[in-house]
Amino acid sequence: MPIFYTPTLTFSSKELTISNSEFKHIKNTLRKKIGDILVTTNGKGLLAECVITDISARSMILEVQATSTKEKSHPHIALAFSLLKQHNELIIEKCTELGIYEFFPFFAERNVKTSLSTHQFERLEKVAIAAIKQCDSVHLPKIHKPLAFKKLLENLSQNYYPVLAWEEENRQGLHEVLEYANKDICLIVGPEGGFEKQEVDFAKEHSTQIVSLGNHILRAETAAITIAANTIFYQLERDSAFY
Ligand code: SAH
Repeated sequence: MPIFYTPTLTFSSKELTISNSEFKHIKNTLRKKIGDILVTTNGKGLLAECVITDISARSMILEVQATSTKEKSHPHIALAFSLLKQHNELIIEKCTELGIYEFFPFFAERNVKTSLSTHQFERLEKVAIAAIKQCDSVHLPKIHKPLAFKKLLENLSQNYYPVLAWEEENRQGLHEVLEYANKDICLIVGPEGGFEKQEVDFAKEHSTQIVSLGNHILRAETAAITIAANTIFYQLERDSAFY
């Protein structure tokens, strides 16, 4: 059953009013009627089973019948990615589907794209909402406002175990560094033209592990999806080994 996004849902909600684009989709596309059951999430781990009790021209009322929660898996995996000329939405969509909980867009030395408008930022948030609905996730990833790369690294290392993908690294692989992750992980992927050597050195000075993703030079969006998928599935397998 599809999940709908209702950010106003709380544990104590008895009724919800839907009047935005979701309303048009539910009423006109899905042709839902009074008495139909809908499942909604607030994007913060809360799920609600609701029944439609009223439909008017511009909104509908849902009665909340039951709620449940879904915990985030641990450790949380975040992705820091250099804003690209294209394909930022692809990165957000695919990595949200994979289970990335937080995005840190940044600007590196060799960035082609050097700004992100409010409209473009809101587009990324809309893509993330569509992605959690599509993959039945109840955790809407947080997308942070873009930072300069060095500023981001200064902020990251207190709360995250940073792992940076560098195509010139030829020794250290991803799984060997993941084994030593002792807190939430932040994966880092650079711009179309790659990182400057001094950016990689700066990352090392901020406790960042540098890893190779193999001998092929991947496009930035491919590298982002690849490192996210490998990290998430590595953690899943490691966790299941503990049951
Ligand atoms: N510097 C390369 C392209 C960089 S690809 C060139 O000019 O052709 C963009 C980003 O993807 C890189 O900054 C890096 O973070 C990541 N990446 C691509 N291939 C990689 C690999 N084989 N190993 C590690 N990271 C890689």
